[in-house]
Amino acid sequence: MGAASSIREHLDAVAVVDHHVHGAFVEPVSRARFEFALNEASTVDLPAWDSVWDTQLGFAIRARCAPLLDLEPHADVDAYWARREELGAAEVARRLTAASGTDAWLVDVGFTEGVCTPEELAAMAGGSSHEIVRLEQVAEVAVAAGGSYAEAFRAELARRLAEPQAVGCKTIVAYRTGFVLDWSAVADAEADALADRWRDAGGLRVDDPRLLVFGIRCAIDAGVPLQFHVGFGDRDERLDHTNPMHLIDLLREHPDAPIALLHCYPFEREAGYLAQGFAGVHMDVGLAINYVGARSRSLIARSLELAPFRKILYSSDAYGPPELHLLGSRLWRDGTASVLEGFVADGDWSERDARRVATLIAADNARRLYRL
Ligand SMILES: [Zn+2]
Repeated sequence: MGAASSIREHLDAVAVVDHHVHGAFVEPVSRARFEFALNEASTVDLPAWDSVWDTQLGFAIRARCAPLLDLEPHADVDAYWARREELGAAEVARRLTAASGTDAWLVDVGFTEGVCTPEELAAMAGGSSHEIVRLEQVAEVAVAAGGSYAEAFRAELARRLAEPQAVGCKTIVAYRTGFVLDWSAVADAEADALADRWRDAGGLRVDDPRLLVFGIRCAIDAGVPLQFHVGFGDRDERLDHTNPMHLIDLLREHPDAPIALLHCYPFEREAGYLAQGFAGVHMDVGLAINYVGARSRSLIARSLELAPFRKILYSSDAYGPPELHLLGSRLWRDGTASVLEGFVADGDWSERDARRVATLIAADNARRLYRL
C-alpha cells in the first residue's frame, strides 16, 4: 500500500470531534428557506437572476451529498431537491449527519430556531453531544435579573457551566462591536452602571463594548475554553474589524487562556501566527471550508503554515441544512488528505507523522482542550 492511499484511508476513517456546530433541520423546510441558509454573508434574499447553487458550496453539495441521497454526483438542482422531498427531511438529515463520521458534537446553543437539539443531533448522527454557552445570552439573562449585573452575570455563567453537558463558552463580540476595543478590565461598578442604562433602554441585545469585554473576561477568569467568532460571517459585522490581531492586548494579558479562534477566513494566517505566539490560542477554518468548496484544499494548506499542529481544530460550523454537517467533514477529510499526501510525496513529512497530525486535528486536540 502506497503512502498516498494509506493517508487517504486514514482520513476517510478517522472519527472527528466537531468542536463548533449547531443543530440541523430535521423538519421539512421550503426550498426558499433551504437556499437562504446556504448564503452566509448576505442577510437578504438573492436577486431573482442569481442562484446559491452557482457557488462553490452549491457545487460541493451536488458533488458530495447527491450520492448519499442515491443520486449520481453532480445531479442537477431540481433532481436533487425532488429527491430530498421524496426522502423527507428527517431521513435526509439522518443520512447526511451520520455519514460525517463525527464522534462528539460541541453545539453552540446560542441560537436554536428551527433546528434540532444537541441530544437529537447525537441520537440521529451517532456520537456524544456537548454544549457551548453563549456569553451574550448569559448577559441578557443577567440584565433581566435586576440587582448587581456583575454578580448576576458571574452567577448565571457559573450555573450554565456547572451543567454536565457544558464544555466551554462562545462570544459573538465580532458581530456586536468587532475587536477594535479597549480590552482592559471592567470594574463591577462600571459594569453595573452600564447595565442599568442598558436595562432602561430595553435590555434586549447587548452591544455595549465594555459589557461585552466584561463577559469575555469573566469567561477567561472561569478558566473554560472560550470560542471567538473570527472573520467570515454575515454582512452585519465589519469583517475588517474582526481580524484576530485586534485581540492581541487581551492575549498578551492572558497568554495561557484556552481560546479557540473560529472560522478565521480570510485571517487564517493571522490566526496561525497568534496560535504560535500564545500558548492558549487554538484555531480552525470551519465554516469557510464549506463555502470555498473545491478551494478548501488551499485553505486547509494555509491553516497548516504557522499554527502548531497541536493548536489546530476541526469544526463544520454547520447550521440548518444537514448538507453542511456532512460537507464540513467530507471536505476537511479530502482536503487534508490531499495536502498531507503532497507533503509526504515531496519528502517533507513522513507518512507516519501525516497520519498522527491528522488525528490530532480531527479529534485529539479538541479532546484535550475541552477535556472530553
Ligand atoms: Zn457557529
